Amino acid sequence: MNKFVYMFDEGNGSQKELLGGKGANLAEMTRIGLPVPFGFTISTNACNAYYDAGKTLPTEIEQQVLESLTKLEEKTGKTLGNPANPLLVSVRSGAVHSMPGMMDTVLNLGMNDETVVGMAKLTNNERFAYDSYRRFIQMFSDVVLKVDSFYFEQYLEEVREEKGYSSDPEMNAGDWKEVIKGYKEIVKKHADRTFPEDPKEQLFLSIRAVFDSWNNQRAIVYRKLHKIPGHLGTAVNIQSMVFGNMGNDSGTGVAFTRNPSTGENKLYGEYLINAQGEDVVAGIRTPQPIVTLQNEMPEVYEQFSRTCNLLEKHYQDMQDIEFTVESGKLFILQTRTGKRTAQAAITIAVELVNENIITKEEALLRVDPDQLNQLLHRRIDDSYTRTPLAKGLPASPGAAIGKVVFDADDAEKFAKEEQKVILVRPETTPDDIHGIVAAEATVTSRGGMTSHAAVVARGMGKACICGCESLKIDLAGKQFRVGDTVVNEGDIITIDGSTGEIFIGEIPMIEPELSEEFQILLAWADEVRKLGVRANADNPTDAKKAVEFGAGGIGLCRTEHMFMDATRIPIVQEMILAETYEDREIALSKLLPMQQEDFEGIFEAMQGHPVTIRLLDPPLHEFLPDKDELLVEVTKLQITDPDSDELQEKEQLLRKVRQLHEFNPMLGHRGCRLGMSYPEIYVMQAKAIFYAIAKVKEKGMTVKPEIMIPLVGHVNELKQMRQLVINAGERVKEETGVEFDYLIGTMIEVPRAALTADQIAEEADFFSFGTNDLTQTTFGYSRDDAEGKFLQSYIEHKVLPENPFASLDQQGVGKLVKAGVQLGRATKPNLKTGICGEHGGEKSSIQFCHDVGLDYVSCSPYRVPLARLAAAQATIKSEQKQLVN
Ligand code: PEP
Ligand code: MG
Repeated sequence: MNKFVYMFDEGNGSQKELLGGKGANLAEMTRIGLPVPFGFTISTNACNAYYDAGKTLPTEIEQQVLESLTKLEEKTGKTLGNPANPLLVSVRSGAVHSMPGMMDTVLNLGMNDETVVGMAKLTNNERFAYDSYRRFIQMFSDVVLKVDSFYFEQYLEEVREEKGYSSDPEMNAGDWKEVIKGYKEIVKKHADRTFPEDPKEQLFLSIRAVFDSWNNQRAIVYRKLHKIPGHLGTAVNIQSMVFGNMGNDSGTGVAFTRNPSTGENKLYGEYLINAQGEDVVAGIRTPQPIVTLQNEMPEVYEQFSRTCNLLEKHYQDMQDIEFTVESGKLFILQTRTGKRTAQAAITIAVELVNENIITKEEALLRVDPDQLNQLLHRRIDDSYTRTPLAKGLPASPGAAIGKVVFDADDAEKFAKEEQKVILVRPETTPDDIHGIVAAEATVTSRGGMTSHAAVVARGMGKACICGCESLKIDLAGKQFRVGDTVVNEGDIITIDGSTGEIFIGEIPMIEPELSEEFQILLAWADEVRKLGVRANADNPTDAKKAVEFGAGGIGLCRTEHMFMDATRIPIVQEMILAETYEDREIALSKLLPMQQEDFEGIFEAMQGHPVTIRLLDPPLHEFLPDKDELLVEVTKLQITDPDSDELQEKEQLLRKVRQLHEFNPMLGHRGCRLGMSYPEIYVMQAKAIFYAIAKVKEKGMTVKPEIMIPLVGHVNELKQMRQLVINAGERVKEETGVEFDYLIGTMIEVPRAALTADQIAEEADFFSFGTNDLTQTTFGYSRDDAEGKFLQSYIEHKVLPENPFASLDQQGVGKLVKAGVQLGRATKPNLKTGICGEHGGEKSSIQFCHDVGLDYVSCSPYRVPLARLAAAQATIKSEQKQLVN
């Protein structure tokens, strides 16, 4: 005789083909000793036998179902159809592959005019019993008898209206009894038969309905779509129902095996006595914390906490468990891996290793690098009850407090007076950059997650909220409004860039720190990863932060940021305005000691780790005032003060601005092209670096400088700039008498550099892929224009899968990176290669960098921990892939 029906304690988790996914899972939970409401599974073979027999249930199967039912009745002490102690069951389909929505579930099967009376007595709740009964009639009729739910809904609506009720909770037991009568009439009319009162008939009809559903239109379409073969068939699970509302020794709840917000290894959850699952969710009664269950039902609590341990060991992770207690007896209804905060994810992963439940590698894979952002920025104290004024998009994480300003210049002005400000704008443009730099955070009422403000703020590790449309900003009146609330310039607000929330006033904050567990996890990541992780940092403060977060060096120091300082801008302008070489030299000689001091500070902070310094990159006009604004000022002065020196100065400035004006600055006079035109600028920078090296070395410290030439497109550019730097080095060595080593390399930022990397490598000690510019030049997009104008819509309409400035376009830009590495190494097998575009701090791009064999990634200091973890995950995943192949 073939076996078609399996009790839950006869199978296990590996029998998906036979028992279906759900059946195998229920069997597994039963097998490991969990108190799962008992039941049985009718196998997928039975489904095929049903079809083979021309859609009739072979007697052999019927027989086995009845035998299993008897076993279920014995085990539960309840009997199907017995009014004194009725067994009620659920009937659910369960295919090998999960096919959600293929067939609705039938709950409370076994209810009829007699058992409902028994239920009412047992639960001491007549209303509940009759409500459950009418639900059962509706569900059963819909799923099994094919009477559309619409008829029942419509009828119920009529009854409610007639009684003057507006919602179901107003219905009493008597009302439900009346509805049940009406429902049965509906069944008679639309199903051409009476509602089956015999529970066994209910059961067999339901089993057939599940088997039939395997070939309904929905299921066939679903299978085609997901390439699920039709011969697999579906299983049917019959499980006893349990009730948490059978009295004060019953209840229901939800619990996590560990605290999902802190990770603490302590049960966390809540429950309600004498209640059903729905009551917990509905929030009508306030549930009690799980610890009080220890006093209320000590034995149940004891069993529950033992079960939790068992579950964690079995599934090797923190579990989120639904349970019910029926008359003092514990049942586990469901268990799944629990969702958790970043802090909890780290703590749990580390502790599971210490408890010998998982390996270090598994622990490293358990934490999502993206989640770490939560922990690396200041954040609002968890104990604060939030009442936000408005909510926008969480564009850049972190929390900030400051006075509201509406203009980038004002932000700068306030910040100079040591006041903390938050810049609020409809949107930002590159002209607002100084305001974003000066402000603690930026808020915009327009724009998305990839808008200018969002991208810039993320790069700087500053909090930002975008697209907060409820903010009605009045720039002229220097105020914004949310409903009736008006916030004026100078008013204090707090923002949370991780949630997008804005609050009035000052809210308590928590400073970021790497917890002990976080440090442990990152140390494991360092043991595993092959990729180096460096930081992009332009000043000693950022450099220190980078070291603190575990960076192994600086991968990009953008020297132009050192020029932006308010005290230096006038000297930089003097240099740009110089009409003669001599005048330019004078200005440069003023800048040199300033740059030297910066480099000394950075070298000292980096404690002997390599530091990659990039020579000047942006076009010079970026250091001059805006042309239109200048024109307005000049015109005004021409009218009001035509003979003034100020007018003369401004006119000279305007001439220079016009002279330097470019049609496409992104593709214009910038990068090494500046060094080619004004070698004295690069010489000054090289000397400042070398003097700093000499000074720091004299203090007995180690320095590993790497000088980087930007935007090289032809090897000859690099050749000339390299010689320039070497000559400067030789002069400083002679002058100071100090010997030092350094590397000279280049950024690969334009396609031609990647495609001729074999030639470029002749002149380079290292390559650093500048994927911000390489993305711009490969796509032919100017980032500021693209993100402000069409990129968002491209992403929304799936023209592009993702923002290529955030996540590396592996198929296009990535191909150039790969070619660059291969060609470069064909010339110099040990050529050092890294990436310093924003992609160096994004997990999928980091995986790519690992796969193409880069030596390191470099990203903002705040993303260094994320990159360390992502790099470790990349190694583990690659090794796993190799094992499979
Ligand atoms: C780059 O282009 O990727 C890069 C790092 O340089 P920047 O962003 O300064 O242009
Ligand atoms: Mg660049």
